[in-house]
Amino acid sequence: MVVIGGGPAGAFFAIQLLRLAAKLGRQLKVLIFERRLQSANSKEVSLPECWKGCNHCAGGISPRLNDGLRELGLSLPEGVIQSRIRSVTIQGYWKNITLEVPVGREMFSVYRGSRPSRRPDPEQNFDGYLLQAARQTGAEVIGAEVSNVTRASDGKPIIIYRQAGLEARVEADLLVFAAGVNGKPGLSALENPMVRIIRQALPGFELPRLRRALIFEMELDARQSPWLDEEIHFVEYGSKALPVEMCSLVPKRGFLTAVLVGRSVDTAKEPEAARRIMRQFLELPHIRKLVPPRTQLRLACTCSPNMVIGSARQAIGSRVAVVGDLVVTRLYKDGLLSAQQTAAALAATVLEQGVDEASLRRGYAPMIDRFRRDNRYAALVFLIHRVVFSSSVLSRFLYQAVISERKNAVASRRTLESILWKVASGDGRYEQVFRVMVQPSVLWSIISGGVLVTLRNYAAELMFGLRWRGLGRFTTGVALERLEAKRAAFAHWLAACRMPGPSSYEFERMYTIRIRSPRARVFAALGRFGEPDREYLHPRWVRIRRVAGEPNAGGCTIEYRVVLPRFSFRLLLEHVVVNQLAVYRVQNGFARGGVLIFELETPKPDVCDLSIYVAFNFSRGRKWLTGPAWWLMRHAFPAFVHDVIWNHSLCQLKDFVEARYQNEGVHFQEQEASASATSVPV
Ligand SMILES: Cc1cc2nc3c(=O)[nH]c(=O)nc-3n(C[C@H](O)[C@H](O)[C@H](O)COP(=O)(O)OP(=O)(O)OC[C@H]3O[C@@H](n4cnc5c(N)ncnc54)[C@H](O)[C@@H]3O)c2cc1C
Repeated sequence: MVVIGGGPAGAFFAIQLLRLAAKLGRQLKVLIFERRLQSANSKEVSLPECWKGCNHCAGGISPRLNDGLRELGLSLPEGVIQSRIRSVTIQGYWKNITLEVPVGREMFSVYRGSRPSRRPDPEQNFDGYLLQAARQTGAEVIGAEVSNVTRASDGKPIIIYRQAGLEARVEADLLVFAAGVNGKPGLSALENPMVRIIRQALPGFELPRLRRALIFEMELDARQSPWLDEEIHFVEYGSKALPVEMCSLVPKRGFLTAVLVGRSVDTAKEPEAARRIMRQFLELPHIRKLVPPRTQLRLACTCSPNMVIGSARQAIGSRVAVVGDLVVTRLYKDGLLSAQQTAAALAATVLEQGVDEASLRRGYAPMIDRFRRDNRYAALVFLIHRVVFSSSVLSRFLYQAVISERKNAVASRRTLESILWKVASGDGRYEQVFRVMVQPSVLWSIISGGVLVTLRNYAAELMFGLRWRGLGRFTTGVALERLEAKRAAFAHWLAACRMPGPSSYEFERMYTIRIRSPRARVFAALGRFGEPDREYLHPRWVRIRRVAGEPNAGGCTIEYRVVLPRFSFRLLLEHVVVNQLAVYRVQNGFARGGVLIFELETPKPDVCDLSIYVAFNFSRGRKWLTGPAWWLMRHAFPAFVHDVIWNHSLCQLKDFVEARYQNEGVHFQEQEASASATSVPV
């Protein structure tokens, strides 16, 4: 059996075929031809070290592909894993929804090949690793380019290739095309030389529909802490001048990969147009906000490969079949998983049914049809996704609905979060996702937790004069499980201050926001809590100011003077752990004895999570009139106003601290690092 192309589809095919054959007690000879291997023909050399070049991919290893690798007993070496992804953030129209990678799921980033060439560890690559695994399973790997295919008189395919300058031929019982669609990145279907070769064996073959993408690697200054380490960002909109729709930023060790898809990329034919798009993208305000300060970004390489968005025609014939990108992939996600699945289906068919055309059609074609069918749902899912995330109003509804759901349901029951996770990570079939999306309960949760809550909150924002222009919204509401965990942590600090524990309060709220800045800066900004010229927390009708003591020092007293004097109160800073914690106690007023805690944690260098915890008991009126009045207050207290004000204030605080930190300068060096050696020109 011969496989043309030693990318994931070819390697997975060989591994799965040989494993299954061994189970069935059958002996097979499998040859894989891969043109990107240099001096690979000795069994002594390690294939990852011979892999030279790039397979034009962001290198996201999805949770389902990780499942597939585990089932095959393949465990990616630590060196191949560039980053273990902990969260994905979907950036809609000024709304940001961050989703933690669920417990039990794994997502990685890898480099597929040896590029960009300035990498210190080019031998740590996914494609080389997989091919090595295929060789260890029994496949023979040949570093050569296949130049043509014909048929012998008995109909068997003959593969013609060049090795060491000489032409050679090999006859096969089965020929598998796994050569991908980027023989030369950016070539149209008509120009692709592989199409001509495939048609020698499959006369009616048509490539799947393709869409151009723009991919570029940025190198970070080695002295800087990793940029967006462990986080993937999906950016769903650009600007009027830069219509992009499904972009991703994928972290690597010392590098960051950006993939752009959209109308502006579709029409960018010239290298200069692609460069303009890259520049415009990095200048988008929501992208700039992600860039750490003093950043030196160097363009390491760039190209415009093809992405598969359809399926091939006539991909099966007598003793010939096509796998991976050449036949079909899941729309916009998980091409590597598609390669594994098409390869698995073909391997099973070959062994269980045969290699004649009828057997291949019977066993393998249904898998291609399943992809086609699922991709129809995918088109609907992405259409809805795009419409929602590119609309200011709709994305606000969804953002709000996600916050409401997080606050009210445990992780296993959060359907909206699960839908967004599956769309972003590819962790589910699109048909399934679509069917859940249109369930009445989901629509209702968007209406009740999104539309109605947004209208109510909007009224509160108007009333308290909270403006969002130029400010990104981030989800600050805390999920139920986190609230439980943090309660236990805060109980410790409250006990240290001789205050009652969290369970003894009638009103309790907690908010968290991630800020890309060293925590000393955030702590200093929090100290400005009572200063008249602070950059956050300016709700109309409430005057907040420091009336005694020094910022961030024990004894600091902050007064909240509210239009209705009965609601005014003072906070006394009782306990401070510098750059980590500030515990204020409510001294008087209706929430007397209550607590306000600011806490800072550093999940990674130069990033901190700011949590705010507020808890108090309502006054008890002692007279015949005040008693019922406070009872009513306790039950009708508009807690959402508190949420709205703190959500706005935290986003303001984040914006201010990050902007100040970032103003220390970002520098993007457009000149590609040793361009001739490393880059495929756009
Ligand atoms: C911009 C972009 C970003 C992407 N990001 C992701 C992602 O993050 N995660 C994900 O899962 N998928 C992603 N994909 C999709 C993924 O890259 C593909 O689905 C996957 O590479 C398909 O694997 P394949 O083996 O079919 O083809 P390929 O990976 O293209 O491999 C084909 C192999 O065949 C070899 N070959 C070609 N012609 C010959 C010849 N004549 N002789 C010998 N060898 C030959 C090539 O050298 C190559 O190694 C992305 C795609 C694009 C365009």
